[in-house]
This record gives sequence, structure tokens and C-alpha cells, in this order.
Amino acid sequence: MARLVMKFGGSSVADIDPIRNVARHVKREVDAGNEVAVVVSAMAGVTNTLVDFCRAAAPLYDPREYDAVVASGEQVTSGLLAITLQAMGIAARSWQGWQLPVETSDAHGAARILAINAEELIRCLADREVAVIAGFQGIHRETRRIATLGRGGSDTSAVAIAAAIRADRCDIYTDVDGVYTTDPRVVPKARRLDKIAFEEMLEMASLGAKVMQVRSIELGMVHNVHIFVRSSFDRPEDIDPHLAPPGTLICDESEIMEQEVVTGIAFSKDEAQISVRSVEDKPGVAAAIFGPLAEANVNVDMIVQNVSADGRTTDLTFTVTAADFARATDTIAKAQAEIGYARLDTANEVSKISVIGVGMRSHAGVAARAFRALADRGINIRAITTSEIKFSLLIDAAFTELAVRTLHSLYGLDKV
Ligand code: ASP
Ligand code: MG
Repeated sequence: MARLVMKFGGSSVADIDPIRNVARHVKREVDAGNEVAVVVSAMAGVTNTLVDFCRAAAPLYDPREYDAVVASGEQVTSGLLAITLQAMGIAARSWQGWQLPVETSDAHGAARILAINAEELIRCLADREVAVIAGFQGIHRETRRIATLGRGGSDTSAVAIAAAIRADRCDIYTDVDGVYTTDPRVVPKARRLDKIAFEEMLEMASLGAKVMQVRSIELGMVHNVHIFVRSSFDRPEDIDPHLAPPGTLICDESEIMEQEVVTGIAFSKDEAQISVRSVEDKPGVAAAIFGPLAEANVNVDMIVQNVSADGRTTDLTFTVTAADFARATDTIAKAQAEIGYARLDTANEVSKISVIGVGMRSHAGVAARAFRALADRGINIRAITTSEIKFSLLIDAAFTELAVRTLHSLYGLDKV
């Protein structure tokens, strides 16, 4: 017997038929003798519709009322799944965020979970009642108003609840059957990973492998929750309870016996590069550039600064998302007098390729091999950054697919 959290996303609960499929998955686990808490998202598309309603009602809406509106999507699915389970003869009860409660900060629209009171929940599970919990929502600790956790937040609800009830596993049922070495639509030879370390998954997720909300992985890492990503579209009846199901376990790196040097390759095409030419090489120049960008809410990613050749001037290059590009160049142009630079060079058809693996900590020369392989294909590298477990390369967007495929083979990630 195990205590499980099963999380189902919007496409898995898009209508009554898929909800029945979800209910049969739940039944499968209940029949196997497990204690089950389910976390659900809103039906596919519903949250978008609710967000649009808020914007249409007033562009500068009160975020507390936005939360009151958008949290309703999950309320509907939690009730519908409870009804469906009951109709199948399974004891089930829905729970809203405020009923547990899931206590949050007051950052409405992007609240953080502060604490979860799971006492009653654990009692119900022990009584063999399935708890169907509305994801994405909680209540602010002081004002007791509904708060939501940011888009994709029901992943975070699921992992937080798994930690609170000390679940043996948090199963994330989704529309893919696991985490892949890279995007299979770009590299058909991409392979599903059996296991991936939290830290690697954090890099993959924050770099655009949109399997789970990034914060849910952080939370899993802090509380060491075993997160298992699997498909919700498998027919429950076809699953052999004695076999390990296909999927990817996100866990501590110490649990991964055969650690590869490189685990995966992430990439994002929506990048832009800005080079600030001939800035003075003196204290305060970086602050003069990045201070105004931070105030303008521009998220800066890679930063590369040259060592000055003449001791007087140098170049500083950074990247932002394509969406922030106009705002970033505008901000820098406005601050030209304070920064003091000769000109701005920009490129917005660039992409960032990141090679990720905790094995890099103990292996030298991993990046050097990539530089050679890309050079052999005539791909120019515009900027490089590295960290302990990854390196990232900025290249012309036209070469994205070629570069990802090249590196995928280079590091032995291709499916055999
Ligand atoms: N329904 C919410 C959203 O679309 C939360 C979630 O699905 O995780 O962002
Ligand atoms: Mg999601």
C-alpha cells in the first residue's frame, strides 16, 4: 500500500469523457489498495477564458478579484471528478484550497504556498475516501481571500500536497509520457528518460521544456518528493499493475545509478541579443545598464562582458526574451547619457541551446566537444555561458534544429 498524489492537467479533464478516464485511473490505484489524493486543473482552455473575462471587464483589474474568478475553473473539475468517482462506487470528496487550507502569501495571481494543514486530509485518506483537490489555489493567510499560484500552478499544488501528506509518490499525469532528452518534435530520436535529477529538471523546465511549473520542481527538490511524470491517455484497463509504467521519475541525483554526463538539451528560439558597444571600463557601468532594465521589469538572461583591450572601453552583451526586446532597447537608449556608450548592436533572430547534466561537475572538456562539433557544421557561436551543470550557447535561430540534433548525437542521447 502506498499513499499517492495523482495530478491531472487541463487536457486530461477537458470534458466528461476524459474525466471518466481520470476516474478509472483513480479507481485503478484505489483497487490496488493505495490511499489517493487527486489534484486537478481546470478544463483545458477554461483558465484562459476566465483571464480574458477579467481583462475585458477592466484592464487594470483588482488582482484579488482576478483570483476569485480564475480559481473557479478548478472548483468545477474537482466537483465533477468527485461526482464521477461516487457514481463508480468510490468514496470521494472535493476540497477547495480554502478548505484544507492551503495558506499562501498575498501575491495575488502568483502567490507562494506558505503552509498546508493536511491533518483532516490525512484522516480522510485513512478512511479510504479519495480527496479531490482543486489545484492552483489557496487562501491568503491573513485576509483569508482566495489566491492563485500563477499559471501552471496546479503542479505546485500537487507537489506541495504530496510533501504535506508525506506521499510515497506524486504522479503527474499529462499529455506526454515523460521527460525527453530534448523536444521530440525537433529531434525524432529524442529518448524518454527513466530518471532525471531535480537540478537537471529545473534547468530543463526553466529553459523551456514545458512539462511542469518550475516552482513545483523547486518544491520537490526541497522536500525530496518523488515526482513521476506519466501519460494520462493510456487506457487504465491496459495498465499492468505488476509492471513499472512508462514515465520519468524526477528524484535526487543520488538515486540515479548510471549518471550520464549529459542528460538533456533544452533550447529556446525567442531570444534577442543586445550589445552595448564601447562603454567605459570603470566601476558602475554594469549597474547603469542593468539597473534601469530591472526597473523596467526586463528579465536579463546571459551577460557577457569583454576584458578591455586598452583599459578604457569595453563591450557588454546580454540577452533578453524576444517579448522584452523592444522594451530593453528602449530602456538602454533612454539611459545612453548615464551609461555612456558608442552604439547598440542588436540581433533578434537568435536562439539559446543549453546542454544539461549533473555529470558535468566531474567531467572536463564537455563543452569543448560541442564547440568543435558546431564549428564542423559551420555554426557560429555568438555567446557562451556556463554553470556547474550546464552550458548555454547563443546561435543564429536558423541553425537551431541542426545544432540541437548535432549535440544530441554528439552526447550519445539518440534513441537506439
Ligand atoms: N488552470 C491553471 C492554469 O491554466 C493552473 C494549471 O493548470 O496548472 O494555469
Ligand atoms: Mg500544466
